[in-house]
Amino acid sequence: MSTGRDLRSLPKAHLHLHLEGAMRRETLVELAAHYGVPLPPVGDYNSFTEFSAIYEAVCAVLRTHNDLRRLVREVVEDAAASGAVWLEMGVRPTLHRDKFASDAEVLEILLDEGQTAGRELGLGVGALMTVDRTQPLGIAMEEAALAAAYAGKGVVSFGLANDEYGHPPEAFAEPFAVARRSGLLSCPHAGELDGADSVRSALDTLGADRIQHGIRAIEDPELVRRLAIDGICLDVCPTSNICLKVIPSVEEHPLPLLLEAGIPCSLNGDDPLFFGANLLDEYELCRDKLDLSDEQLARVARASIESSGAPAALKASTCANIDAWLSDPVVS
Ligand SMILES: [Zn+2]
Repeated sequence: MSTGRDLRSLPKAHLHLHLEGAMRRETLVELAAHYGVPLPPVGDYNSFTEFSAIYEAVCAVLRTHNDLRRLVREVVEDAAASGAVWLEMGVRPTLHRDKFASDAEVLEILLDEGQTAGRELGLGVGALMTVDRTQPLGIAMEEAALAAAYAGKGVVSFGLANDEYGHPPEAFAEPFAVARRSGLLSCPHAGELDGADSVRSALDTLGADRIQHGIRAIEDPELVRRLAIDGICLDVCPTSNICLKVIPSVEEHPLPLLLEAGIPCSLNGDDPLFFGANLLDEYELCRDKLDLSDEQLARVARASIESSGAPAALKASTCANIDAWLSDPVVS
């Protein structure tokens, strides 16, 4: 076990977290029992397709406004407990279409509860509105219009999730153009399951400001240089990569190489309900298994806030607090 400064008190942003995948296990158990539905087997999947199906089963226990509010409040509490000063929660209202009147209704509830809980707990909360790349383009266009309507009212970024194979970034250029025109950051998933070409396409056709995962960029030295020069942040999730067998072991994770190449990287939980690690766990893991120094972990935290959709004042105060964290002597 490596030692160093207290990682909980390192101010950080959580930028890659799918809302329903961040549900507390005890909440899932309680809601499944309440509604009399079988408990989704969140630890039991052998492929990304199975993982996606179980994710949708988890969504089935969220049936009322209060269920959604409880989920958001607990996710904000958990972010605060990991030392997050900014949470960019990944929201996908289409997951709840069969239960509520409109996507806008779902989004309103998630934003309202997120901002209320954030104010009470002392952290900023915004939404990364995400579209499902396996659904028709028309749905992505509807969601882009909705995200654009809430730019400046809680939605700060626009994403693309689900299975990368057969659903390349370039197919979604049009909805991303709508989102970017409204001032939202472009934050698609790429380079997790699919290779470096998917990362390049996310940059070229979606104007990506950040890439969720993006770790397979390491396979292409030219692309690595481009990401470093352009300062494109990779929102990395080591535990998720291990659980979904994207990499064989944490010791083989390319994060140290990406950092060494000068690419800004943030650390994130992705889906803690499924993978078992929260935001703070990821920082601890990178210290313990990848031997990241406090200087490197502070650089990760700085990249997370600087690349986020947080207000400028929060970015500035957080960077100053990260410097203060690092200037404190290590107590051993
Ligand atoms: Zn993800």
